[in-house]
Parts: sequence; C-alpha cells; structure tokens
Amino acid sequence: MKTKKSQKLYKKAMTLLPGGVNSPVRAFKAVGGNPLFISKAKGSKIYDVDGNEYIDYVLSWGPLILGHAHSSVVKALKKAAERGTSYGAPTKLEIELAELVKNAFPSIEKLRMVNSGTEATMSAIRLARGFTGRSKVVKFEGCYHGHVDGLLVSAGSGGATFGIPDSLGVPSSYASETIVLPFNDVEALRNTLKDNWKDIACVILEPVVGNMGCILPHKEFLAALREETEKYGVVLIFDEVMTGFRVSFGGAQEYYGIKPDLTCLGKVIGGGLPVGAYGGKKEIMQMVAPEGGVYQAGTLSGNPLAMTAGIETLKVLKKSSTYKKLEDKMIQLEEGLKDAAKRAGVKVRFYRAGTMFCSYFTETEVVDAKTAKTSDLDKFKRFFWGMLNRGIYIAPSQFEAGFISLSHSEKDIEKTVKSAYKTFKEL
Ligand SMILES: *Cc1c(COP(=O)(O)O)cnc(C)c1O
Repeated sequence: MKTKKSQKLYKKAMTLLPGGVNSPVRAFKAVGGNPLFISKAKGSKIYDVDGNEYIDYVLSWGPLILGHAHSSVVKALKKAAERGTSYGAPTKLEIELAELVKNAFPSIEKLRMVNSGTEATMSAIRLARGFTGRSKVVKFEGCYHGHVDGLLVSAGSGGATFGIPDSLGVPSSYASETIVLPFNDVEALRNTLKDNWKDIACVILEPVVGNMGCILPHKEFLAALREETEKYGVVLIFDEVMTGFRVSFGGAQEYYGIKPDLTCLGKVIGGGLPVGAYGGKKEIMQMVAPEGGVYQAGTLSGNPLAMTAGIETLKVLKKSSTYKKLEDKMIQLEEGLKDAAKRAGVKVRFYRAGTMFCSYFTETEVVDAKTAKTSDLDKFKRFFWGMLNRGIYIAPSQFEAGFISLSHSEKDIEKTVKSAYKTFKEL
C-alpha cells in the first residue's frame, strides 16, 4: 500500500489543525500510524489520495446508508444548489423532511432541525430541564452523546480509546449535574431514580450503544427505563443519532417497541450533510422557542441542501424492499465473519442490530463498558492494519460500530470475508 501523498498531507495538516484533523478518532491514534487522506468515494468504495481503493465500512461514521454519492441524492443536491444554498427563512423542504421523520417515528409529534447530533442532544437536555424544572441528567457509562460539556463523562469511543474519562475544560460543577450508571443495570437505574428523582430532569441513552462498538440493550432494561421514568415524571431521551433509520426505519424504538418522550436524530437523516434533529411529545416540544420559553436557534438550521440530502435518503429507505436488502447483506457478512474467525481459530464475539455491528476479540459476553474493555486491543490493532492493507476500511478503533450500505455488493462482502480470514490467521 503506497501512502506517500497521505503522509505528506498529514504532515502539512499537523501544522494547521490540532492533530491534523477536525475530529479526534480520524487521527488513527488508537491503532497507531497515520490517517489516510481521502479524495473521492462512490457506492461502497472510498479512494485515498495515493489512488488506493477500499471497501468502506465506516461510511462517514454512519450517515451513508445508501452508500457514497448515491445518484438520486447527488442529482437532487445539484439542482438544490442552483436554487441557492441558504435563505435563513422557512422552506417547504423542512416540512417534507419533518413529515418523513414524524411518520417513521410515532413517538415524535413535533421536531426541530439542527446541524449536528451534538446540537440535538444538547438541546433535548435543555428542553427536558426546562420542562421538568429539574437539573440532573442520568447517562450510561460508555454512551456518547456528542461533545456536550455535561455529557463528556464516561463517554465511549473517544474516552475509551484515549483513556481520557473526561475532558479538560468541563467545569466540575457541570459534570456534577450528570449521574453515570452502568448500561443494562436495572437495579442501579431503579435505585438511582428512587433516591434522586426530584432532581432528575432526564435519562438519556443510546438504545443500542454504537460508541462502545455495538452493545445491545436487554429487554428488561428498556422496559425498566420506560416504567421508572414514567413513574417519576423524568423525561426519557433516546439518542438515536446513530440508530435512527439504521437499525430499522423507525430506529431502535421501533426495533424494540419502546416509546421514549424525546428522540435525538442525526447521521442518516442528513444523508451525508450536516443535520441533526430532536423531537417528541407535543407537550414537551411546545416549550421550544418561539412557541415556548426554552431557547434554541441556528443560522443554518433546516439548510436547503441538508434537507434535500435527507429527503432523498429517506425516500429510498422508505421503499418496502430496502431494509430487507440491507438485512440480507448484513447476514451474509455476519455469517461470513463468524465462520472466518472460527476457521482461523480466533475467538471473537460478534454483535449487531440491523446494519450496525461490531466484533470484539474476547470470550466474555459484552453487555456494558466494563465487558467491552475485555477485548484484546492489540489484536484489534493488528486486525485493523491487516484489513486496511487488503483494501478493507474499518473504523480505526475497537469501540466504534461498523456499518454496511445498500451499495455493498455480494462480491464486496465475499472479498471482505476472505480478507478477514487471512487477517485472522495472522493474529
Ligand atoms: C455521532 C453521535 C452523536 C454526535 O453527533 P455529531 O453529529 O457528531 O455531533 C451523538 N450521539 C450519538 C449516539 C452518536 O452516535
């Protein structure tokens, strides 16, 4: 693999950007070595500046469920750009995307568009606090909800990868408003709410945790979350930034049959452009300005290009055959990887929900942050480089989910499984 041009760009980027990147995990710190600079992408493939081709299982960390540069998205974006890139005034496109989202998520009666997942969770928490008049937030160890000050506590991938449990610059007074519990721990949840509910505005979680790999919720855990928050008037927030339109059209809440009070979305709803959204019960959402007293705004919120990419993406996803097709591809990959590991004699635990997945190098069942950390990170590192050298691009961290897209072909998956077998053998 030639990487001369990437190396040169990285050197230059280091002089201009902290760590040479605009988002930390991109820097390959967890796997050693330097990041690749990408020049283009199409369908299931990305290409770096040195001309190497890779089958992409990162997909911009989740948004590109149709694959890169999907023809209907690109066509609509070109047309939209010619009509102007931003107006700072309402458009029909915002209604169209809002309606598509609302129809997919019955728990969402009203919603607000923002520009990122971070903005969505930050705003949903402010709203929950405004609605309840309480200040504390319950989150779960290893769940990432964007880089919101009060939520950068035990926050998954970045932290898990770099061993920084927290961030500098977050006042301890902010962090002290956050209560952190182990994921899937029903008893801890019940006890905490029983003793502290008068101070607790909301409980926020990733219903399937994609920022520690892929950790599935136990049915009893989700049921207890709904039951206990309802009992104490605590707002239940599902952060479906990753799982929304990913594990199923209606997200994890449809997949598991649980209705939260508020939902945060991002990634897929922007179809590769910067979009986030939060929404939920009308009685809560009507507290958002200008209808209510909880302030939240955005110069580029509801941006016409971003709305267009979202609309085109959801239109394809809405077709009845789409998720079946995605599921079939996923099963081919799942069975292929499990079989390859077995043949190579490598112990891996594989988990998936819809088309997000992760394999951990451990024999321990992974149910929370503690068990996720039993994965052999040195093996992961070697697996990562073995795959990359064979033209397979997976996330450069054990604690990130992998994704597949509608563009991944049977041949792509066969090549991936073959490469995985060879790489497993080398471990
Ligand atoms: C990616 C992600 C976020 C943050 O979204 P950004 O668009 O990166 O700000 C929040 N929550 C979850 C679950 C995510 O996966």
